Amino acid sequence: MAVGLFLFQQDLRLHDQRALMALAGRVDALLCVYCRDPASTRPGRYGIAAMGPLRRRFEDQSLAELHRSLLALGQSLHVTEGEPLAALEQLIRTFKVSVIGQSRQSGFNENRRWQTLQARWPSLTFIETDNHTLFTKDQLPFALDALPPSFTPFRKRVEALDIDAPLPSPQTLPPSPSEIAALQAPDTRARADELFRGGEPHGLTQLADYFGSEAPSYYKSVRNALQGWDCSTKFSPWLANGNLSPREILRRLRDYENQHGANESTYWIYFELLWREYFHWYARRHGARLFAFSGVKRRSPLTSFYPQRFQAWTMGSTPYPIVNACMNELRETGYLSNRGRQIVASCLVHELAVDWRYGAAWFEHCLLDYDVASNWGNWQYLAGVGADPRGHRHFDLDKQTRQFDPDGSYIARWQGHVTGPLDHVDAADWPLSTSSRH
Ligand SMILES: Cc1cc2nc3c(=O)[nH]c(=O)nc-3n(C[C@H](O)[C@H](O)[C@H](O)COP(=O)(O)OP(=O)(O)OC[C@H]3O[C@@H](n4cnc5c(N)ncnc54)[C@H](O)[C@@H]3O)c2cc1C
Repeated sequence: MAVGLFLFQQDLRLHDQRALMALAGRVDALLCVYCRDPASTRPGRYGIAAMGPLRRRFEDQSLAELHRSLLALGQSLHVTEGEPLAALEQLIRTFKVSVIGQSRQSGFNENRRWQTLQARWPSLTFIETDNHTLFTKDQLPFALDALPPSFTPFRKRVEALDIDAPLPSPQTLPPSPSEIAALQAPDTRARADELFRGGEPHGLTQLADYFGSEAPSYYKSVRNALQGWDCSTKFSPWLANGNLSPREILRRLRDYENQHGANESTYWIYFELLWREYFHWYARRHGARLFAFSGVKRRSPLTSFYPQRFQAWTMGSTPYPIVNACMNELRETGYLSNRGRQIVASCLVHELAVDWRYGAAWFEHCLLDYDVASNWGNWQYLAGVGADPRGHRHFDLDKQTRQFDPDGSYIARWQGHVTGPLDHVDAADWPLSTSSRH
């Protein structure tokens, strides 16, 4: 009897699951596995746990929904709690697994784990497909090591390419080996203040709601706003956890355009999905360089680590009200608009002169939509060590405040005005306009 193991990771869904379908067609019994790494909730390289409580909750919800969907197919989800590689090897041995499958990963560490498994288990068959991206590697019109160094030439080469249709969810799956324990479903009741609820059905609901509204037709004119549910698609948490497939989003976008007409705004949704796409191939192309202080440009910024400044930034108590408001929203909800992310990242690097990697690590801890490629790629970009051909993005905080919060309602909503006394040494260092002072 052939036993297969499918490793769920940032693809917590059943629709558009190419590797799962390929694996299911080859085996008599199937283990559906998710590995929780206890290290992700302990302080890591920057003294910050990779997974904060809000992210963890979204993950729990996504796992519970996936387990429910698998139960409906006579399957179940098995969640391991130890070091992932050791846990997988234990399962391979115990269940005499002969075929193992996963969606191809963009992260360096995840890829290394897969390569280690391949090296240690040469007798196994490994199945891997591109499920996180719109394109497959073979569809790209260039080799990965010839990836364009910035977004625009990448976009121009790929935007007219055909994209495969997403696959429907499976109707049946091989059964799991009877001895395997299924997920002990955690408490995932919704909180009253919860904006985003993890899981494939909730992601599909947001997809239907967004494309069932008129918002796609005016996306471009509002996408830079700091607040407002309809100002952007809000797909990111579900995309990052794989509750939604990017190809499924694109299919709905094309349906919307066929029904209501394409315009610059609907094109811009595709444009932003291509940014995500770019950063995924960028992560695969650059491997561990994604996390390097000097980035892919190999140019070290003139920044350092100042614990007090970093702490003030994370807790929303800098002298900059717009930054504080954004950081408070991020900490309390696990979400922040793209404009807000750009503002606070620029402030950390330029005003506070702090090493960008601490900012990226804090985002990793907080963001429900944390995605290794988009997060570290965007941080590199803003720190001037990544894919920005200009090499330098310094946002004028006063100008951003006037433009994006002209009536002060965003700062008031997220209590950006702190009243503590300003440290005089920092005050001597930082550019503080009258409006930034308290
Ligand atoms: C410093 C920094 C860190 C970021 N970290 C992440 C992250 O960890 N995960 C993440 O998904 N996005 C990240 N982004 C990108 C962007 O801010 C979010 O994708 C976006 O705000 C999510 O909201 P939305 O789904 O409503 O976006 P929309 O504006 O509706 O865009 C649609 C989709 O396009 C993609 N997208 C949009 N902008 C970008 C971008 N600049 N880079 C990559 N993809 C993009 C996202 O998948 C998004 O869901 C980061 C941006 C910055 C500046």
